[in-house]
Amino acid sequence: MERKDKKSLSGKSQISEKETALSTLDFGTMEFMKWLIAKDTNSGDTLIVVKDFLVNKYVILFDRSILRDVIVGYRECMPWCMTCNTDDCGHVGFAICLKQDYDRDDQVIF
Ligand SMILES: [Zn+2]
Repeated sequence: MERKDKKSLSGKSQISEKETALSTLDFGTMEFMKWLIAKDTNSGDTLIVVKDFLVNKYVILFDRSILRDVIVGYRECMPWCMTCNTDDCGHVGFAICLKQDYDRDDQVIF
């Protein structure tokens, strides 16, 4: 209920939800798994490319499903997708996984 109200208030359109294949957090998590594997095998077969990452500041991704850069910024440590204008798209899911990976290894290699 609360979630629905928030969406209608933000004026998020149906179109913007369909622009990217990464419309939910779960898709972002799945893409992150693919990205991790691709990173090790150098296959490069991922929807998401990590362009820049500054811990607790921002993550810049390139989304191949919409062919544009996506910026996920952190608001008090909570990721927020500036491109989709939401906190529950796949880019945010990806950014959360990237952050967890960073916290575990204390570095990100991309
Ligand atoms: Zn997004």
